[in-house]
Amino acid sequence: MNASAFTSDELDQIRDEFPILKREIKGRPLVYLDNAATSQSPRCVLEASRTYYESYNANIHRGVHRLAQEATAAYEGARDTIATHFNCQREEVIFTSGTTDGINLVSGILGRAKYLKAGDEILISALEHHSNIVPWRLLADEVGAILKVIPLTADEVWDIDAAKALITERTKIVALSHVSNAIGIINPIESLISLAKEQGAITLVDAAQSAPHFPLDFQQMGADFIVFSGHKMYAPTGIGVLLGRRELMETLPPYRGGGEMIKQVTFDQITYNDLPGKYEAGTPNIEGVIALGEAINFINRIGLSKIQAHESELSTYLESQLSKREGIRIYAAGAKKAGAVSFAVDAIHHYDLGTLLDQFGVAVRTGHHCCQPLMQCLNITGTVRASFGVYNSLEEIDQLLAALDKSRQMLL
Ligand code: PMP
Repeated sequence: MNASAFTSDELDQIRDEFPILKREIKGRPLVYLDNAATSQSPRCVLEASRTYYESYNANIHRGVHRLAQEATAAYEGARDTIATHFNCQREEVIFTSGTTDGINLVSGILGRAKYLKAGDEILISALEHHSNIVPWRLLADEVGAILKVIPLTADEVWDIDAAKALITERTKIVALSHVSNAIGIINPIESLISLAKEQGAITLVDAAQSAPHFPLDFQQMGADFIVFSGHKMYAPTGIGVLLGRRELMETLPPYRGGGEMIKQVTFDQITYNDLPGKYEAGTPNIEGVIALGEAINFINRIGLSKIQAHESELSTYLESQLSKREGIRIYAAGAKKAGAVSFAVDAIHHYDLGTLLDQFGVAVRTGHHCCQPLMQCLNITGTVRASFGVYNSLEEIDQLLAALDKSRQMLL
């Protein structure tokens, strides 16, 4: 059985690109369904990292020698690839170590800019990842600002009426996830971004779980900042991107101080570099940037719209098969999802189920998914989450389902 976005040959070819998929776990083929935590890398990305270290490893921007020039060209070339992919200016692409780093950068510079005063409001939602909660809590505590939270409806999606009422002239920052890592739903961020902009608030979109799964257009989305991580889109860990609106970032103070982010330094006075260097202090993750550029090329060779169609078939199929079974609760059932389906099985703890599924070679994530406040809203301690990448197949969903059925028989 094949998902129709790809022919079976096409999917086989894609899978062939990922050496790790040949692994066996306890004598069974690996079924890797933990892509929301981190995705696997295709050969071209692995090769890009290796070639960098084997052939032109050098520090960038400063050296006049050949290797430094090659490394700089590859690093800046990756920035161009990313700018084109997300429809923004190259000056708006800041390399970070990941989504967490990007959000801390934004909250850090807004704090340093004294953008907030006591009583101002920061708006997030009930299903944010800890990395889109804690930096704002820290900033709120620093200045006496108030952290407001968009609640969920009984269907476990954003309560849009409540959200609209929460965006007022007191709202100074709106920071929202595009897709929930815990329950996979696509959040209707566009309307809230425009409402926030009408009130003059600064907006940030946590795109950690959307950038890997469907096309994003920075200009069209209209947010001031978008953050995401390379390791969830077929690149290595330790590399991520902050896309930031140029006119805004030009007025904001720097974040980390050090080499590369300056033009002129004396002990008394410093002039800072232009964008994007202003926010890239120190030696960056050069290999990671180059590999991320390659991962974006890989995605574009296949086409994000095709990837989206394929993954949507996987999640729709899993959801429909799960809903035929007794005693299984799907979170945000029926809501439009990207890349993940979360569920609970009556009378079986998610950790036990995850551990048993591993015995069948099936890798899923169990627990709170770094969303403890969401778990508190849902009144649970965790879920089982299956999350998809371009290489997953309907056969693998069937393998998950078969392993799930056997695990239930063993546990009940
Ligand atoms: N936000 C969301 C929605 C995520 O899924 C994740 C990773 N699970 C993060 C933020 C944090 O990403 P990272 O650990 O790569 O910084």
